[in-house]
Amino acid sequence: MGKIKIKETVDKEIFYHPCVKCGSDNINFDDCGYSSFNVAWGRCNDCGNKVTISPCDCFIKVERIINVWNEENDPAILKSKYEAEIEKYKELINNLPKI
Ligand SMILES: [Zn+2]
Repeated sequence: MGKIKIKETVDKEIFYHPCVKCGSDNINFDDCGYSSFNVAWGRCNDCGNKVTISPCDCFIKVERIINVWNEENDPAILKSKYEAEIEKYKELINNLPKI
């Protein structure tokens, strides 16, 4: 029995967080399309809040750009990051010589 490989295109919905700065979901995800030193971004069309992936692969997928956008615009992820920063600075303060 013969076998061939075919390429299929599937439409899928990808959800992303609204802009953490202004709440808009009017976000542009795109890349320059350069074959080398390509740059991709997610940018809020209302306030200009932007994440950038630079350099990135010339065949970067929108899913990857959205993952980066979500990491920088998900309040839960940001809260965890900020809390880790607070703990780091608390430790630095505690390790300072006593005045
Ligand atoms: Zn915005």
